Amino acid sequence: MTTFNQLNLSEQTLKAINKLGFEEATPIQAQTIPLGLAGRDLIGQAPTGTGKTVAFGIPMMENLVSGENATQGLVVTPTRELAVQVGEELNKIASFKQMHCLPIYGGQDIRRQIKALARRPQIIVGTPGRIMDHMRRRTIRLHAIKMVVLDEADEMLNMGFLEDIETILKEVPSERQTLLFSATMPRPIQELAHRFMRNPEIIRVAPKEVTLANTDQHYVEVTENKKFDTLCNLLDMHSPASAIVFGRTKRRVDELAEALNKRGYSAEGIHGDLTQGKRDSVMNQFRSGIVEILVATDVAARGLDIGGVTHVYNFDIPQDPESYVHRIGRTGRAGRSGEAITFITPRELPHLRLIEQLTKRKIQRQPAPSLHEALIGQQQVTVERLLRAVEDEASSQYRSTAESLLDQGDSVSLLSAALKLLTKEPNTTPVRLTEEKPLRSSQSRNQRNDRNKPKDFYPRKKHRSSRPRNKWSKNNKS
Ligand code: ADP
Ligand code: MG
Repeated sequence: MTTFNQLNLSEQTLKAINKLGFEEATPIQAQTIPLGLAGRDLIGQAPTGTGKTVAFGIPMMENLVSGENATQGLVVTPTRELAVQVGEELNKIASFKQMHCLPIYGGQDIRRQIKALARRPQIIVGTPGRIMDHMRRRTIRLHAIKMVVLDEADEMLNMGFLEDIETILKEVPSERQTLLFSATMPRPIQELAHRFMRNPEIIRVAPKEVTLANTDQHYVEVTENKKFDTLCNLLDMHSPASAIVFGRTKRRVDELAEALNKRGYSAEGIHGDLTQGKRDSVMNQFRSGIVEILVATDVAARGLDIGGVTHVYNFDIPQDPESYVHRIGRTGRAGRSGEAITFITPRELPHLRLIEQLTKRKIQRQPAPSLHEALIGQQQVTVERLLRAVEDEASSQYRSTAESLLDQGDSVSLLSAALKLLTKEPNTTPVRLTEEKPLRSSQSRNQRNDRNKPKDFYPRKKHRSSRPRNKWSKNNKS
């Protein structure tokens, strides 16, 4: 075990880490931070959710010069959400230093970005496209860069950013420290590292001990046309406070979010075709609990740090076994436990075996829950609410009414009627989803080769209305 105190950090950085509430360094942090502080180039490979941001954030804070009015650090991330998230985390680590980190990404007003860049933030976090845009406009100064971080390098490769990254790396001073972080290390990334890094130290943290350990994994065998009812029954049974449902395509995500709302759940979809503003607002609503269910494609959710997710539902099995690991990495983080349920249509069973081979864990079969079990689950929710209300003693104004009610009927009948009124009974409003073809097993392991293809195959038909949904007015669930 390594505490942050043992890492020879400045007082300001220790204070910031303290404020974040971290005590122990994660394995990838304990191994990479000393090398990073020593100025070494390094490659850090560790699964999602293991704290890679801090692993490069701390060396940046310590190696760059606080207060110096020049951009000295550049972090390249695959998506806008990650740029924002990494920027926020770095600013937290920097909170006791004169170090400012500016996120830049597409979809944000470029003039405002140009102004912010002119103030020469010490660190810039950006997506490849927007960084290059500013390079072309000469609104970003890279001559004083001393550190470059490539975050989620494998994902940047999947999204076809490899050339952009090379272009950027050629433009920054070659006298620099380069850190590369990735959950997986496919060959093109190794080659990139070989060409652009100086004798990098490679630190690898094995996946299984970290990501999936805290997550219960099950699968349900279900035909395509039963998937949605099964999902609703599971949601009723579990009543998750915060859940992610993964769909294979953008169309799927749109249709699922809409269908869930029809049935009284508070759900929003997120995928690459939404405007930046819409994506931000969905993420904020989900983080703050206004939206209980996030429906997402792999690409949209990759790498996002979404805390407190208790349940992940794989409505469609992922195309690539590695995506499974990423999806499940959303739950059971930082010592909390989570549950993951994957829907498998009969023809997709071979895919499940591939996932089991990769994760070296058996995924247990679970029968599809019945409507009755869903109802029991919802009743349980009501009972818990009721018991909490008794404890809170907030119901004292209702006592005399209750007493006079008891003159009119026996207590069990009255309480059953109250439970029925309070319980959100499984909703069977008909919904229609477009069928997705099952994955064919011949596709299975070769997926990697055509990973540059977008993962969402279907164009969006139309935008769903973005009328705000209030979770309290949608249903009586709390
Ligand atoms: P990764 O980039 O490896 O997917 P993140 O950097 O997004 O992981 O970190 C995942 C979560 O763990 C974040 O909420 C982060 O604040 C938290 N975290 C990072 N380091 C620690 C630590 N040493 N102790 C506890 N939580 C940590
Ligand atoms: Mg990360």
